[in-house]
Amino acid sequence: MNTFEELGLSQPMLETIQKMGFEKPTPIQAKAIPKLLEDNTDLVGLAQTGTGKTAAFGLPLIELVDIEHKIVQALVLAPTRELCLQITKELNAFSAHNSKMSILAVYGGADIIKQIKTLKKGVHIVVATPGRLRDLIKRKAIRLNEVDFVVLDEADEMLNMGFKEEIDEILEQTPDEKLTWLFSATMPPDVRRISKEYMSEPFEISVRGQQIANKDISHQYISIYPSERTEALKRFLDFDPASFGLVFCRTRRDSKDLADQLMKDGYNADALHGDLSQSQRDRVMERFRRRQIQVLVATDVAARGIDVSDITHVFHFNIPDDLAFYTHRAGRTGRAGKKGISLILMHPNDGHLIRRLEKTVKINFEKATIPTGREICELQVLNYVRILKNAEQSDELTDFLPTILDELKELSREEVIERLAALSFNRFLAKYRHAPDLNKNRRERSKSRDRNAPMKRFFINIGRIDVENKGQFLSILCKHGKISGSSIGKIDMNRNFTHFDIEESVANKLKDNFKKVSLAGRDIRLDESEPRKDKDNFKKFKKKKKKGGGSGGSNWKNKKKKRF
Ligand code: ADP
Ligand code: MG
Repeated sequence: MNTFEELGLSQPMLETIQKMGFEKPTPIQAKAIPKLLEDNTDLVGLAQTGTGKTAAFGLPLIELVDIEHKIVQALVLAPTRELCLQITKELNAFSAHNSKMSILAVYGGADIIKQIKTLKKGVHIVVATPGRLRDLIKRKAIRLNEVDFVVLDEADEMLNMGFKEEIDEILEQTPDEKLTWLFSATMPPDVRRISKEYMSEPFEISVRGQQIANKDISHQYISIYPSERTEALKRFLDFDPASFGLVFCRTRRDSKDLADQLMKDGYNADALHGDLSQSQRDRVMERFRRRQIQVLVATDVAARGIDVSDITHVFHFNIPDDLAFYTHRAGRTGRAGKKGISLILMHPNDGHLIRRLEKTVKINFEKATIPTGREICELQVLNYVRILKNAEQSDELTDFLPTILDELKELSREEVIERLAALSFNRFLAKYRHAPDLNKNRRERSKSRDRNAPMKRFFINIGRIDVENKGQFLSILCKHGKISGSSIGKIDMNRNFTHFDIEESVANKLKDNFKKVSLAGRDIRLDESEPRKDKDNFKKFKKKKKKGGGSGGSNWKNKKKKRF
């Protein structure tokens, strides 16, 4: 079936959905709508998120409700407050041709007295979260004894969130003859059990339908090695000071570590994962909702049911193991008509996974560029200047103005501006002064650095006997020196000492940080040394060494020989 006209909907309804821009029914709509309109049957509808399930039950519901009878005839249960609001909005849109239809959303966290008052006036359809509805039942504020239809929307998610008990209690209050329609993205055993328990011979529809693409989400990826992933993430956060984001990690450990790192670096971050108690989780969520947390780092499991609106960015610290999770994750942004970005920080070897994802979820990914230090600084400075320009003047300052002007009289307008900006930005500029372009890989970068940044050469008494390879050596330098690996140039490693090049700008920092370092009980000595011998000599020397003839080499080599 390819048109709404064939589904048995009324003429006014057809006009309404046409005005909404729905051109043709999705597979689940095509199958469910005629069935629900014609037959008095229970129904189980399985289809992925974003396949139009709301209209699949919503259109028949609006058609079947008796508008003259102002009493709760239909009950829709959904797992979160946001979903309740979304469903209510959509049901209202479906009944645009019927001004008498009254639909009420009830959910926790909102004024219960107000909800009770509206209920008293009489409503046709209640869209509720299980928790709040149970409260209303307990207060005897709602009667469900005339309910003809119960819809369990996102049943899998409701059970995941532990609403089984509430659902039991609610359904007990409804008449036996009612019809139950269950919609879910998946059919885990718990959902199967519910359908057995509460439904009689339900008609089952399962579609692997294509999702209606959410045009408000832009899907992007970057290719980055794990060692630079955090840095790349921070660039995106810095590039968009108004960003409000969710980062997905694979494990609890990863999310905790990442959140810790971000906090240490001055971001308003926190972690949400399975090691937290329920009350700890609630607290984190509350702070996130209030925007006291700018970036929330979460695991897939813990992030289920996050119903925070206006999330601007979803970052995937890795491609989800189960590709179907991708849409779940990405769907946290681009809600309620707002734009959102879903960005994967992909390992450079995982390009094939992106292509597979493009096929399975039918989304096109765009390769993003990682903001450079310069771009970030420029944006932040501009932002600051705009704030400065729009700042409200305060009357209280007027009295002091002559003194201030007098104090500043030697400075030109340009100088004042420069200094103001410097005050706010020196920290930022310093952070990004030598920031590498992460869009280039290390090799490309080290080439260009050899040409640009001034370097110094150092000696350190760590050598091959102490470390397994240069990588480990580098990580010791970075860890104890608190410097970035990208500031290290050539490393010449010997048996028990090493010479290496380092960018002049961080050389002192390294020296200071290494003053008290000891390794396996041995003091580490770090000294500046002569700049590297010119390259030709060095190459010759290396060649000789390879041939195995080292006899006539430098003093240095002879000395070494004697020693061992
Ligand atoms: P689900 O409940 O399956 O996750 P929704 O019912 O929330 O999906 O629908 C997702 C989006 O698709 C909504 O914005 C909805 O308005 C829109 N939509 C639903 N059906 C159609 C259709 N037939 N044509 C165009 N858009 C549709
Ligand atoms: Mg839905």
